[in-house]
Amino acid sequence: ILQSKSAVVTGSTSGIGLAIARALAAEGANVLINGFGKPEDIEKERAGIETEFGVKAIYSAADMTKPAEIATMIADAEKAFGAVDVLVNNAGIQFVSPIEDFPIDKWDQIIAINLSAAFHAIRAAVPGMKARGWGRIISTASAHSLVASPFKSAYVAAKHGIAGLTKTAALELATHGVTVNCISPGYVWTPLVENQIPATMASRGLTRDQVINDVLLEAQPTKEFVTPEEVAAIAVFLCSPAAKQMTGANLSVDGGWTAE
Ligand code: NAD
Repeated sequence: ILQSKSAVVTGSTSGIGLAIARALAAEGANVLINGFGKPEDIEKERAGIETEFGVKAIYSAADMTKPAEIATMIADAEKAFGAVDVLVNNAGIQFVSPIEDFPIDKWDQIIAINLSAAFHAIRAAVPGMKARGWGRIISTASAHSLVASPFKSAYVAAKHGIAGLTKTAALELATHGVTVNCISPGYVWTPLVENQIPATMASRGLTRDQVINDVLLEAQPTKEFVTPEEVAAIAVFLCSPAAKQMTGANLSVDGGWTAE
């Protein structure tokens, strides 16, 4: 469904973003992947996408805390592919701490990567989408765009911000053939979740197993983690003709978490 289209997926060297980049490439899209990691691992993923799916794949090391690098990333993709038809704002980090101890630099970093980066990327990609009369903007929000958990003040604030930014951009672009939506996963087993286990153990005085079963999976009535591929399938659907009238939506994939 994305033959001769091109996509930029931020934070796609790992986890959900990598699954989304691969799923869009499987539908025929050229993809720009972005994020941090070992150069040889990133090159393996990039080259793998090209050989497996027969599309063009390029890599941008743009740091999502840097507005100028975000604008250059979009310009690079437009230069290499001729267009950015699909923008997926996915890069994100987490930090867990009681609010009174929450490091100020962590607050700033999370707001920059998890919220402001989406604004900068949308701002840069929209002129081309409008000119072509077609675009799909998808952001990875979170169940934390709808509900809160303690000790995640910056993350919850940023993700609620993504839901608001999504609605606003959707209204502005509604008559231009550009849809804007966000996907709100519950817990997906990725490095982002694995890495927050030690801090959650410390914040709540729990063991690793207790954090997994009594905090993480406790939130999800299905008692199962969401997979990155299940999130990616929603992104692909949002790019399909069937989703043309879906815009401004926040789509939950959370094992029932936010139904409670
Ligand atoms: P992950 O840690 O596996 O991947 C994060 C990606 O972002 C990596 O590619 C990393 O290199 C990149 N990144 C981090 N800082 C960056 C920066 N400054 N500039 C550019 N790239 C940067 O995490 P994930 O779980 O796949 O998370 C992806 C998105 O999904 C995030 O926005 C996260 O908030 C969201 N999310 C995750 C879960 C979950 O349970 N894992 C649930 C809901 C939402």
